[in-house]
Amino acid sequence: MTTYTSGERSIAVIGAGLAGSEAAWQAAQRGVHVTLYEMRPHRMTPAHQTDRMAELVCSNSLGSNLPDRALGLLKNELRQLDSLIIACADRTAVPAGGALAVGRDAFSHAVTEAIAGHPNITVRREEITNLSPFLIREGGRGVGSTIIATGPLTSPALAQAIRQLAGQDYLYFFDAMAPIVTADSIDNQSTNLPIYQSTNLPIYQSTNPPISQFTNLLIYHPPNPPATTSTVP
Ligand SMILES: Cc1cc2nc3c(=O)[nH]c(=O)nc-3n(C[C@H](O)[C@H](O)[C@H](O)COP(=O)(O)OP(=O)(O)OC[C@H]3O[C@@H](n4cnc5c(N)ncnc54)[C@H](O)[C@@H]3O)c2cc1C
Repeated sequence: MTTYTSGERSIAVIGAGLAGSEAAWQAAQRGVHVTLYEMRPHRMTPAHQTDRMAELVCSNSLGSNLPDRALGLLKNELRQLDSLIIACADRTAVPAGGALAVGRDAFSHAVTEAIAGHPNITVRREEITNLSPFLIREGGRGVGSTIIATGPLTSPALAQAIRQLAGQDYLYFFDAMAPIVTADSIDNQSTNLPIYQSTNLPIYQSTNPPISQFTNLLIYHPPNPPATTSTVP
């Protein structure tokens, strides 16, 4: 699945959510023919309600749009990289302070139209349950590389196929939740308070131990299992 051949002219993408739509668009823009598989509406997930691509299942906010925040900076980089998702979000934005929030219907319509209208993308509405046809065999013709972008609500049959392929009993979905530190747990002797306060939330900097040691502690001694991990059994 992760074998890439140079000069590949066709790939498959499974799942037309946020990630799959972007991946298909980026490859198609580079002249690669993409077959994009999406199981809705034949088979719905427990959260999606439409057959549209990049349907947001919960919040309509894509987070900060401010250039001095990590998420805002990332969005600017995505704009420079011709991101379909960010272009559609910008076109369908609704007022949300410093955040980039979208009208969810207008947003998913815009992504669906762009994907459907791209000459290099063929959309197939089917549930993929078996990965064998997508595996590239050495020297074989195969279908080219395959990107699996079926997200946290991957259909059970495909989850089983991924489990078998990966030889793992469990799959993990890492949510983008920031760690929360309660203010009353901070040792005021060891901090400069606060270093940043342009919102109603102050940001603290540790002086003892230095911030580099603090991040090392977080990275090398994470809670087990991570608190923000959901398990797909
Ligand atoms: C209930 C819920 C609430 C959430 N709320 C938030 C939130 O507020 N903010 C946030 O940032 N994130 C939230 N998330 C996480 C959110 O799902 C991701 O941020 C985002 O949707 C992930 O994008 P994705 O492209 O990976 O998956 P998705 O957008 O889910 O896209 C995956 C696509 O794959 C398709 N698919 C699945 N299985 C198959 C198959 N076998 N064959 C073909 N197609 C298949 C699905 O129909 C879907 O269209 C939430 C998730 C859930 C489940």
